[in-house]
Amino acid sequence: MRRSKYHGVSHFIGYTPLIRLRRLSELTGSEILGKAEFMNPGGSVKDRAALGIIEAAEVSGELKPGATIIEGTAGNTGIGLTVVGQARGYRTVIVIPDNQSPAKVELLRALGAEVKVVPEKPYKDPGNYNKVAQRLAQEHGYFWANQFDNTANRQIHYRTTGPEIWDQTEGRVTAFVASVGTGGTLAGTSTFLKEKNPRVAAVCADPYGAAMWSWFKNHNLETKDGDSFAEGIGQGRVTKNIEGLEIDEAYRIEDQTAFTIIQQLRREEGIFLGLSSGINIAGAVRYARQKGPGQTIVTILCDSGHKYISKLFNSEWIEKNGLKADLSLESVL
Ligand code: PMP
Repeated sequence: MRRSKYHGVSHFIGYTPLIRLRRLSELTGSEILGKAEFMNPGGSVKDRAALGIIEAAEVSGELKPGATIIEGTAGNTGIGLTVVGQARGYRTVIVIPDNQSPAKVELLRALGAEVKVVPEKPYKDPGNYNKVAQRLAQEHGYFWANQFDNTANRQIHYRTTGPEIWDQTEGRVTAFVASVGTGGTLAGTSTFLKEKNPRVAAVCADPYGAAMWSWFKNHNLETKDGDSFAEGIGQGRVTKNIEGLEIDEAYRIEDQTAFTIIQQLRREEGIFLGLSSGINIAGAVRYARQKGPGQTIVTILCDSGHKYISKLFNSEWIEKNGLKADLSLESVL
């Protein structure tokens, strides 16, 4: 029998479009391109990690038919695990800190995940969402996805995101820029691209309050200044997905800069994004400015603005949190 040309939902994770960001490309004289990860079935870049982790655990035998998957997540990995899990007969339990957008919890529950909202705690605290997930996995015999230290995460970006970008730019890519949650996207994608062409720069865009800028610039984790409203990014330790990663440049990005970018893209280009995408794009622009015109810089459009409507696109929230919605790109870049 011939294999069907029709496929289930997991098959449609990845192969996302590469969108030209018009105004920023014009402003810098370089092609600023965004990989439209918000177009994945679960709505974010984390569908890839979810699929990579589930497939690797199926192959290793750690994940048995009908098992329960548990994960500590800012939300998007939980959504990805639930989408892929439903398609393959796994139940999901999602542990999420209470400072994430309420829409994520609603969406997870609507999809059918069991959601446990826990108070936001630092990584070293046993009450940290990730530690809670690990503990519940042990107690109940669940499979713990462990996105931060499970390198099946960066491997799927090495196998898919990197090759897609190489093909879509016909090998013209000069830099890849990403922020770090687990680091899977930045590490896997840039490792592949550097193997294709060692001159492709790997660039980290870090929000304030995170330690990755200090790590890549100065090899310490001491930076604790400032804070960010960006969800899903802002790492304070060297995860297994980050270990051994060579980075060419790193920037710290102000929330106001990222926020102005996502508002401009919404208003003038019909591209509706969350704040981590704005941090990424700001990093791409910083690098374009530093290196001069003529480059092809690719970054990640991690997720859409839908889950953040009550925050980033709500004038009361914006005002209360001291952000400005109508600044020009020129004034923040
Ligand atoms: N942006 C958003 C919205 C996310 O949810 C995540 C993942 N937590 C990231 C960016 C970062 O991706 P990664 O975990 O691959 O570093």
